[in-house]
Amino acid sequence: MARILEQVRVARRRVSDGQYGTCVRCTSSIHPERLELRPWLITCTDCASLHRD
Ligand SMILES: [Zn+2]
Repeated sequence: MARILEQVRVARRRVSDGQYGTCVRCTSSIHPERLELRPWLITCTDCASLHRD
């Protein structure tokens, strides 16, 4: 669960940077519904499935 907390922190920082909702890998936008379910997401569906970690 520490990992999720870290991702939430990263997501919050990205909100202040104005990059929230944008994939960190390919810079395409992340679907708002996914963000609602998992606000800590920083990658889009494609990148998440390519780089499952
Ligand atoms: Zn992506």
